[in-house]
Amino acid sequence: MGLVVIMFFFGLAGGVVGRMKGSSFFVWFLISGLIPFFGLLAAVCYRWEDRELRRQCPGCGRVVKLHDTMCTRCGTDLDFPAVAIASEESVRHRLAASRPPG
Ligand SMILES: [Zn+2]
Repeated sequence: MGLVVIMFFFGLAGGVVGRMKGSSFFVWFLISGLIPFFGLLAAVCYRWEDRELRRQCPGCGRVVKLHDTMCTRCGTDLDFPAVAIASEESVRHRLAASRPPG
């Protein structure tokens, strides 16, 4: 019984960390619950999805992650681009900063 409780709380912590990083709560809940400690560690070390730079696919115009080597929509091979699109997080910050106070 004790183990189930431990797994649940590790799952919860991993899920929250995963969600914070723009990933799926449920996926990280499962990973961290099934592999207590190491799953949580993986969630903590996992890259921040919404802090990744992005770029636009030249084939179909889809915005993909900068580190993607192939477009997930049209399959175009993507070279490392000269121009990157700002990450979602920095766009949010800019919007928040441009909003008038109050
Ligand atoms: Zn494409």
